[in-house]
Amino acid sequence: MNTPAKSPTLRVLLVEDSLALRQSLGALFESRGHQIDFAADGRSGLALALSEPPDVLVLDLGLPGMDGLRVCQALREQADRHIPILMLTARDQVEDKLAGFTAGADDYLVKPFAAEELMARCLALSQRHRVGNAYRLQIGSLCIDRRSGIASRAGQALDLQGIPLKILRMLAESWPRAVTRSELLRELWPDEVPASDPLRSHLYLLRQALDRPFEKPMLRTVHGIGFALDERA
Ligand code: CA
Repeated sequence: MNTPAKSPTLRVLLVEDSLALRQSLGALFESRGHQIDFAADGRSGLALALSEPPDVLVLDLGLPGMDGLRVCQALREQADRHIPILMLTARDQVEDKLAGFTAGADDYLVKPFAAEELMARCLALSQRHRVGNAYRLQIGSLCIDRRSGIASRAGQALDLQGIPLKILRMLAESWPRAVTRSELLRELWPDEVPASDPLRSHLYLLRQALDRPFEKPMLRTVHGIGFALDERA
């Protein structure tokens, strides 16, 4: 399961009320051979995403009528498959970003952003959901088989069980975005978070298994946010 040498052609749906952004992003994606469709409001964007599911949905948070969060929620409830969603948010809307992930977005970009960055994220998202099959996750040299529960890196099985393995799966399923500490705590200890710092020892075990035998670490601390996987490692 190696990364294809050539970038795949994407079908992107951009739901964005700014005409200028629709035009500039449309020109860029088309110049690279990708197909891009547009909607200028949430309701028509949702309808279009449901009738013709794109490889990636780029969804603005602030939209007239039905906002991005509600589109995201409705899509997760109504679509018959997982459509990768990249949310566009204004600067300083950290709270909204986190709410966006709860509503089911896969990644986000803060405006203003570089169009090239958006394209790279779209490719990464589509690849993450396209590579292999439903039970196999591949991120760079890391592979997780959801059925057997076995994680391997560069072909070597990793000695991981229990909570450290769960953390790795959460990171892999959220890649390329970072997972916050509170997301991890909520998921791992839904009833009651243990006292002191329960993540510390589990992250240590995860690093020992995932990174110690290799030259470059995959597990990255994103300052002030949480943790993410680096697929280039
Ligand atoms: Ca907007």
